[in-house]
Amino acid sequence: MPVSRQIRKNMERSSWIRRMFEEGVKLKAEFGADKVFDFSLGNPDLEPPEAFRAVMRRLVEDTSAGTHGYMPNAGYPAVREAVARKASAQQGLDMGASSIVMTVGAAGGLNTVLKALLDPGDEVVLVKPYFAEYYFFVQNQQGAVVEVDSGPGFSLDAEKLRSSLSPRTAAVIVNSPNNPTGVIYTRAQLDALAAVLSEHGARTGRMPYLIADEPYREIVYGGAQVPSAMLAYPETIVVTSWSKTLSLPGERIGYIAVSPRCADAKELFEGMAMCTRTLGYVNAPALMQRAVAELLDEKCDVASYARRGAELARGLRAAGYEFPDPEGAFYIFAKAPEPAPSRRADAEALGLDVAFVMHLKKYNILGVPGQGFGTPGWFRLSYCVSEATIRGAIPLFARAMEDWKAGS
Ligand code: PLP
Repeated sequence: MPVSRQIRKNMERSSWIRRMFEEGVKLKAEFGADKVFDFSLGNPDLEPPEAFRAVMRRLVEDTSAGTHGYMPNAGYPAVREAVARKASAQQGLDMGASSIVMTVGAAGGLNTVLKALLDPGDEVVLVKPYFAEYYFFVQNQQGAVVEVDSGPGFSLDAEKLRSSLSPRTAAVIVNSPNNPTGVIYTRAQLDALAAVLSEHGARTGRMPYLIADEPYREIVYGGAQVPSAMLAYPETIVVTSWSKTLSLPGERIGYIAVSPRCADAKELFEGMAMCTRTLGYVNAPALMQRAVAELLDEKCDVASYARRGAELARGLRAAGYEFPDPEGAFYIFAKAPEPAPSRRADAEALGLDVAFVMHLKKYNILGVPGQGFGTPGWFRLSYCVSEATIRGAIPLFARAMEDWKAGS
């Protein structure tokens, strides 16, 4: 067997996103890219801001000795100091360089945090629907996933989460603004979660960590605010990246911020600085660290995502789709509609969300079934695509819905 049984099982599990991506490649070759409406991937279509290019041009001319050498595993001290100022302003707490570990994107950061926190079999709670990769990240670091339902409108429901905690709970991962729902957790929801976690910690002697994964923090609409997880709960670790904010997902740059209010903040920081090395990242990319430190006030064109999201939401709602309005990020998570009686057997065999996503494919529309996010019965659309794609797709979404209901 070329790959382990575990990896083979995981390849099956993750096959929906991969399969839709591959379907897209095939459809584009057959019909032409402009005839395919690909809402499957969260890969920003906006280019990085012009300021990024200017900084990069300057940085590549820097020939100082050591510019391309190894550095402290946590990253350049001056970069971490600058990043800490931004993280402090966002979280409402005072942090310095000793709170920040620069990482290989948020994905590298999450693996680093989990590697540092987990003993084999320790549990990590994921709120459904969740970013599919969390499942694999927890497994990578020998943890066990415990899934918990969200509340109405995909809100964070602390009471539901209470029953998922055990003496083996090492951490809870929350993601707000959320992929795939676009929902932002409120201050009251975070406070309620903090109360449940604190109570559990006092009772069991093990205070779970709250891992707040925030790569979409700066992509919010209508003046929405993302409340500080660090202010809500002392034992908080924030993970984020510039993948979405600066449209740099291929450049792999992000960071971990350990709350200075964590009881063991110093040991956590040191453990994570070590894990980023032993996991094989060694340190975050040097050039990108220097670039982002100069771009802390820059972000992508959020207004453009807002327009696209609003246009897609209007079109889908008019066609009868149901979903919570996205408050941030660039996803819509919609309910797979009930089919005509003639389609029911198919839908049951495949799963409603898979059957509907396959139906959409007949109209050259690509989405991802909710199964991939631990939530069957729904499907995700990424609207980090051009306005032309959204406009072209809306009449097709409407036809797909009519045909689905009519059984034609
Ligand atoms: N967390 C969430 C919720 C995401 O949606 C993504 C990427 O789509 C990541 C983490 C990983 O981001 P990065 O590219 O910075 O590793």
